Amino acid sequence: MTTNASIERIRALAQEGEQEIIALRRHFHANAELSWEEVETSKRIAEELKKVGFENIRIGFGGTQCGVTAEISGAKGKCVALRADIDALPLSEENETEYRSKNKNVMHACGHDAHTASLLGAAKILAQIRKDLKGTVRLCFQPAEESGSQSGARVMLEEGALDGVDSIFGLHVFSNIPSGMVQYRSGPIMAAADGWELTITGKGGHGSAPEEAIDPTIAAFQMGNAFQSIISREVSPKDTAVLSVGGITTSSDVFNIIPERVTMKGTVRTFLPEVQDRVESAMERVTSSIAEACRCKAELKYMRFLPATVNTPELALLVQEIAEELFGAEHVEEAPLTMGSEDFSYYSYTGHIPAVFAFLGVGCPEKQGTTNPHHSPKFDLDEAQLYKASALYAAFAWKALENS
Ligand SMILES: [Zn+2]
Ligand SMILES: [Zn+2]
Repeated sequence: MTTNASIERIRALAQEGEQEIIALRRHFHANAELSWEEVETSKRIAEELKKVGFENIRIGFGGTQCGVTAEISGAKGKCVALRADIDALPLSEENETEYRSKNKNVMHACGHDAHTASLLGAAKILAQIRKDLKGTVRLCFQPAEESGSQSGARVMLEEGALDGVDSIFGLHVFSNIPSGMVQYRSGPIMAAADGWELTITGKGGHGSAPEEAIDPTIAAFQMGNAFQSIISREVSPKDTAVLSVGGITTSSDVFNIIPERVTMKGTVRTFLPEVQDRVESAMERVTSSIAEACRCKAELKYMRFLPATVNTPELALLVQEIAEELFGAEHVEEAPLTMGSEDFSYYSYTGHIPAVFAFLGVGCPEKQGTTNPHHSPKFDLDEAQLYKASALYAAFAWKALENS
């Protein structure tokens, strides 16, 4: 069997399954569940996998009934993992579609319903080409992508869900990418997300008598400026970093009081660990020296939430190759760097698994709501692209095993 024949077969099988994939997406959309509460979602996933002959079905991670892994094997060989995240967000849906969320204040507003349905579509394809698989494919339906420090990826790794895996592929649909466009990238693709909290303590007093107080707002103003100088003067212009202040509060909120305390919080986004280290240590230096100059005390708490998502070059090339073969080179392009982040990053960063993450466009200006931003109560997506996600998943697994 030639490569082309099989890529074509995978595309044809994906197209055949299109209506089923859309129906599943609508089911998951209507029955959206929050991070670490994806119990019914997981049950349904396991049922679908059993139906098409998957084995070693494991349900429940992190002491919950959430998350599913399952395997299908052809010949003896390596193991490729395919990952979909399955959780929704605490939002009240404002769309009026027939498949709108039935669960109050829970909505699939990031497209994880599409990932879940597409990976189930891929499961069916893989079952149909099982005899051509030169190894094992492990599907990984991951809970709690949206839950920050309670990351489902981290828990699945810790609990051995990815043990024995030689490479892993994941994708995200995006409403700001034109429908049907596949984006790949070698090396970093999504940023590391860090958070920080800063408390500056002075000495409160009367607004008319600053000489009797120690004003922490003066230190805060200077620190806010100095933070932006870290980005412009200490990070190479060839690299990328963002430092944003998301909140400033003072211990008093009165016009004639110098507050005792100022608290600030914000985020830092970077792609390279050395840049991340540099920003963190510069923030420590700047806050403690400005505090000293202003006779205040500063306490900086710097938190590393999610590492950067970094794609293994050979696997990124493989995604480009199969996407071009599946859909034509005009529908494939290099992804720009994205300052957003993904807990898929744990698989390569913590798990040391060769990994690749790709994007699929689902924004179509002619289809209502499909270009609305992710995490908006009016988010929707172009379902006509979902079979392509299934084809990408299945083709990646088949081809990665073929090459191994
Ligand atoms: Zn999201
Ligand atoms: Zn997402």
